[in-house]
Amino acid sequence: MVRFPEVFVRAVVSALVLVAATACGGAPDAAPPQPPPAAPTPPPATTPPLPDPAAVGADELGSVPILMYHQLAAQPGGEYDQTPAEFRAELDRLHREGYRPITAAQYAAGAVDIPAGTHPVVLTFDDSTTSQLRFTADGTPAPDCAVAILEEFAARHPDFPARATFYVTDDPFGGDPRALPWLARHGYEIGAHTATHQDLGTLDAGGVQRELAQNVQAIGAAAPDTAVTTMALPLGSSPADPGLAVAGTWGGTAYRFAAVMLVGANPAPSPFGAVDPGAVPRIRSGLGRVPFDSAYWLDELAVNPGTRFTSDGDPDRISFPRDSAGELHPRWVGRAAQY
Ligand SMILES: [Zn+2]
Repeated sequence: MVRFPEVFVRAVVSALVLVAATACGGAPDAAPPQPPPAAPTPPPATTPPLPDPAAVGADELGSVPILMYHQLAAQPGGEYDQTPAEFRAELDRLHREGYRPITAAQYAAGAVDIPAGTHPVVLTFDDSTTSQLRFTADGTPAPDCAVAILEEFAARHPDFPARATFYVTDDPFGGDPRALPWLARHGYEIGAHTATHQDLGTLDAGGVQRELAQNVQAIGAAAPDTAVTTMALPLGSSPADPGLAVAGTWGGTAYRFAAVMLVGANPAPSPFGAVDPGAVPRIRSGLGRVPFDSAYWLDELAVNPGTRFTSDGDPDRISFPRDSAGELHPRWVGRAAQY
């Protein structure tokens, strides 16, 4: 499900380039002649050494922007929507500023598998509209839908894989039966967004559980190998018993989510810090037309880089400066590596 060969391949290529550069240039006169660069060899059985966490400024207790998208349209219909060009520009900015995508499920599990020195970003899409995914006659994502843009961007930037989380209802992507299997097959996360996009704050306990269990059932029927592990609250509205957004049972189907996504309006805490899995904040993607959107927060994170989650490159180790140690949640202490 997780596609991540690119970074490893790049690391190997970088190592080979470094070998070639060392062999070809700058050697003092007394140095013995160097052999020509070796032909590419198979990857070593052992993992290459990782950079020193301090040298890359690793801080895995920093915050993570989780961006929330709705419709992409040439003529945006509201302040939740944006144009394909605006979406492309935001991907460019994220890439340029060192962000690398992970899914919401990875965030919730603390499975941050991005290169040392980069920052995780989670791209989430609500409502499963055809502006996010629709197909051409040959079954590929149609130009200017969100998935096509993500795939094009990743093809041009192999260090920015096409990873995102789609929060879907029971009739997703115009009812096209190809959509959920395609997303699952290509490594995207499919999350719950209720069966019929209900405001869960208006339903009784049975209604809340019916909306979520039916949604999980429908996703499982369409994409049988998919585990639905995160959800997004329609309209950001919590049920009267917020615990029912996290776990429940209806009609013989039980559900339990590792993260419940809100609608606003600030970067999420580190998954290794003080995160409430029942209320994970997201940032509305936007160009500054509304308060606290992604343009605002990416500016804030750029001028306060020490507040960002910066990866140490090792998914199993949680690195952070010693003076941040108080922010670590006790359940992660076994993986902690302060410096
Ligand atoms: Zn929605």
